[in-house]
Amino acid sequence: MQTNSQATLPVPADHVDDAMFRLMVDAVTDYAIFLLDVDGHIRSWNAGAQRIKGYAPEDIIGRHFSIFYPEELLADDLPARELRIASAEGRFEDEGWRLRKDGSRFWANVVITALRDRDGRLVGFSKITRDVSERREYEELLRRSEERFRLLVEGVRDYAIFMLDPQGNIASWNAGAQQTKGYAAEEIIGRHFSTFYPPDVIASGWPQRELELALAHGSFEDEGWRLRKDGSRFWAGVVITALRDHEGRHIGFAKLTRDLTERRRVRTLEDEGRRITTFVAMLGHELRNPLAPIMNAVSIMQLEHLESARLRMCRDIIARQLQHMVRLIDDLLDVGRITSGKITLDLQPVPLAEIVTDAIEMVQPLIEQHRHALSVTLDEAPVWVMGDRARLLQVVSNLLNNAAKYTPARGRIEVALRRSDAHAEVSIRDNGPGIAPQHLKDIFNLFVQVEHRPDTGGLGLGLSLVQQLVTLHRGEISAFSSGEPGKGSEFVVRLPLIAAPAD
Ligand code: ADP
Repeated sequence: MQTNSQATLPVPADHVDDAMFRLMVDAVTDYAIFLLDVDGHIRSWNAGAQRIKGYAPEDIIGRHFSIFYPEELLADDLPARELRIASAEGRFEDEGWRLRKDGSRFWANVVITALRDRDGRLVGFSKITRDVSERREYEELLRRSEERFRLLVEGVRDYAIFMLDPQGNIASWNAGAQQTKGYAAEEIIGRHFSTFYPPDVIASGWPQRELELALAHGSFEDEGWRLRKDGSRFWAGVVITALRDHEGRHIGFAKLTRDLTERRRVRTLEDEGRRITTFVAMLGHELRNPLAPIMNAVSIMQLEHLESARLRMCRDIIARQLQHMVRLIDDLLDVGRITSGKITLDLQPVPLAEIVTDAIEMVQPLIEQHRHALSVTLDEAPVWVMGDRARLLQVVSNLLNNAAKYTPARGRIEVALRRSDAHAEVSIRDNGPGIAPQHLKDIFNLFVQVEHRPDTGGLGLGLSLVQQLVTLHRGEISAFSSGEPGKGSEFVVRLPLIAAPAD
């Protein structure tokens, strides 16, 4: 075959003479192509050499090629070494900084080839140089951007971000991974990622299945228990992404893991809270239904004349206890309504003094029962607010009821209605046991009772309802108490004032 090749050349070899070769080399502008003698002096110079290095042939022919090398490479004796290697091995290739005529640098790709005559004697060298500064700049930019990205990923602390090879062995590790899982990079790189899974999950083949799903769909998301180095469990949110190179070949996986233990705990608590409130609302309804006919029956009994004093006493006990039960259950229903946002206010201008007077009238029997002294101070000018009468009455009577209920017999209760800036203030003060400072911030929370006293018969709903109703009226409520027995407590409700209606 080899023997035939000359005969099949499209152009007979004798048509390409030395002059044509010379022309071809001279015309190339993208490569500096020139000859060196055995000592490294320049003997020819093409258009590309002139363009890249800036010298005209007459400036450079005869000079030593080390003129193109910056000082640090000369100190290293690179030019002489290059020729030695080229003559020993036939060729030498290198990349590095070279100088132009004007002293500026460019990044050069250099190939030096030793030239020998028929007898194998070294007659000189050919040197081909390419300016690859642009490529180098691009590579440098890419390197820096990759470096920045690597630093960014490594520095992230809230997410474990790491790479797996196609078999699932860990190939990289960031600060977040160390923080979440407890392993240092050198302990974990190279190990299989199933290390993070509880034994039963590994036995079920799930880790491998996750990789297969990520590979099939591009990425895969999961939540589940994972293990830290110390064996403790955490609830992890995981995203696995299959990684492919430019040609679509699978090269591994990126895995991002977040510790969601706290979030899961909050979610569980929220679910539980929602279930309890739904249950409370349902319970309220179920208990309230039979109360209506019982109340009717008691009212009818109260209209009848009963001969027996004992029966009359029983009837009155039923009536009183029924009242109490209705109050409790209505509170329960209100809590359900408020937490589910189903409460609506019937807003209209309300003179607060009337509300205060009505509330006092409602709680009067309890105040008298405990023989409390009641003093009332009302602002002389009318105090109007925008509100729902029934709900405001509920607010004030509840506070007054607490004052009467918690203050030992023969206590003092002071009710005041006043103006302060653009607000109306209702203050209810007693001289009962007061509320210790550490409990003050909690008493408006649902179901909170400082100490459960069966005799006061509450559920810890009242103040929570009062606060929610006041908030719905764009007002606020505060509690003041030193906690010293006998110094009592004061509850102040502030509501935005409005002008008295014209009629
Ligand atoms: P309840 O009265 O049903 O227990 P509340 O929400 O009305 O629930 O009150 C919460 C707690 O705040 C009460 O259990 C009681 O310990 C305390 N408290 C409320 N008002 C007073 C008051 N005037 N004096 C002393 N303690 C009070």
